[in-house]
Amino acid sequence: MSARKVIVTNNRIDRIVVVGGGTAGWMAAAAFSRYFDNGRRKIIVVESDAIGTVGVGEATIPAIKGFNAMLDIPENEFLRETRGTFKLGIEFVNWGRQGDRYIHPFGAFGTDLHGIPFHQLWLREHARGGGGDITDFSMSAAAAALGRFGRPAVGARPPVSEINYAFHFDATLYAAYLRRLAERQGAIRQEGRIVKVHRDGESGDVTSVELEGGRLVEGDLFLDCSGFRGLLIEDALETGYEDWSHWLPMDRAIAMPTANRSSPDPFTRATAHAAGWQWRIPLQHRTGNGHVFCSAFMQEDEAERILRDTVEGEELADPRLIRFTTGMRRKAWSHNVVSLGLSSGFIEPLESTSIHLVQNGIARLFGLFPEKDISPVERDEYNRGMREIYEDVRDFIILHYKATQRDDTEFWRSVRDMDIPASLARKMELWRLHGRVFRENAELFTLPSWVAVMLGQNVWPERYDPIADTLDENRVAQAMEKMRAGYRQTAQQLPPQEQFLRSANAWA
Ligand code: FAD
Repeated sequence: MSARKVIVTNNRIDRIVVVGGGTAGWMAAAAFSRYFDNGRRKIIVVESDAIGTVGVGEATIPAIKGFNAMLDIPENEFLRETRGTFKLGIEFVNWGRQGDRYIHPFGAFGTDLHGIPFHQLWLREHARGGGGDITDFSMSAAAAALGRFGRPAVGARPPVSEINYAFHFDATLYAAYLRRLAERQGAIRQEGRIVKVHRDGESGDVTSVELEGGRLVEGDLFLDCSGFRGLLIEDALETGYEDWSHWLPMDRAIAMPTANRSSPDPFTRATAHAAGWQWRIPLQHRTGNGHVFCSAFMQEDEAERILRDTVEGEELADPRLIRFTTGMRRKAWSHNVVSLGLSSGFIEPLESTSIHLVQNGIARLFGLFPEKDISPVERDEYNRGMREIYEDVRDFIILHYKATQRDDTEFWRSVRDMDIPASLARKMELWRLHGRVFRENAELFTLPSWVAVMLGQNVWPERYDPIADTLDENRVAQAMEKMRAGYRQTAQQLPPQEQFLRSANAWA
């Protein structure tokens, strides 16, 4: 073996400056202060109370449990502090056709038999005139339909172990909770409005940000969490934005909280309207609502009227308009600036993915954490990975629009007939032929998610996979009946979600 050794350098990044204290900024500060602030490194968060945060972002996907666990956040405390509830999936209303309703649950459908994907067996059963509804075979969907919840204990067995869940929470309270955590771990908060960004004349790297009043905050690595504007990544570095609004033309949201009328449902609801859709996110103390729409097809006042006419419960605040352009920064990481959250891009919250993209960016940066002389290869790898996950999410969201049979408005006709990315077209064709779904690389949405949306929106494959014919029909039908009964009976034994939260001391 060669005598060559790995080099110890004094090239370490000692000052990480997080620009912005919204959900992205405090997630990053909590994570980096936990694992990177070992006495010598400084983590400084600059935020401006005068500017504030976007203040929405209340539904998540199950991976968030991993982020909280990484920070040793006790789940019940987290739910209390953020007035959170459990989320077992998303109920989609009026998407395939008006009047349709389906759930995209977390977790698998049924159990594969002899290596044959369950949905293929179900498709065969369906072709024989049986099978019922595929969501009868999801533990999370069965519990959601009854408004019930149970947290699988460590070592739990199927079917209860198949419950997969995420959370709804108050995003502002989550950021405040993470701020307390980060500050306990040594992160330093600097209040102030950034008015100027200073760069090195030679390398172009950012050297410091200047606050109103002239104070400079210097750093080696900057995390741009400044929201849509992208104070560093765009205003200073002019990285550029890739606009995807030809595929996802939604460009406005009106958000408005209402009072709860009953025990919170353990699922998000996404109801399609004439030129967009409306979210309903039940928390402990209120329900978050918002109407995401396309301004080319609907005026703001009409969108607001639809929202106000359809929310349940008393309005708790005035409606708030948010403008956005769907797309992503051409490079999430440029020079010594890594953008996280809204500054790195935005895809409408139909599948609650934005906070996950922040988490994913943080995890990726952990894996590729640089030294002062940042390697372009490592930076490119980060950018490649972020692009991949953004494009995966983009394609999955486009599917919800493309796979519609609605033709009642100009908006629905235009999205139904639009050209789609080749990556999605290939997936839809593979599904159309034999109901096959292939997960590529580290794709976020896995087989059950594609199956849920395809079938939920009436996109049927022409045939099932012939491999399903290798199993005896009657034995499969019996096994399926047993699974269905198991899910139903288990769901009936779970407590209503509010009761569960209270008994777990997770209700504030
Ligand atoms: P922001 O919250 O905008 O924070 C920006 C920060 O930068 C603030 O602290 C601000 O003060 C600071 N700042 C900006 N400029 C300056 C300056 N000049 N000087 C100093 N400080 C400055 N995500 C989900 O996962 N699930 C959802 O259900 C969901 N719903 C959404 C609905 C809508 C309509 C929108 C728009 C987004 C939604 N999101 C959702 C996304 C989610 O809200 C964001 O990903 C998340 O809140 C992160 O935001 P952020 O921290 O990047 O930006």
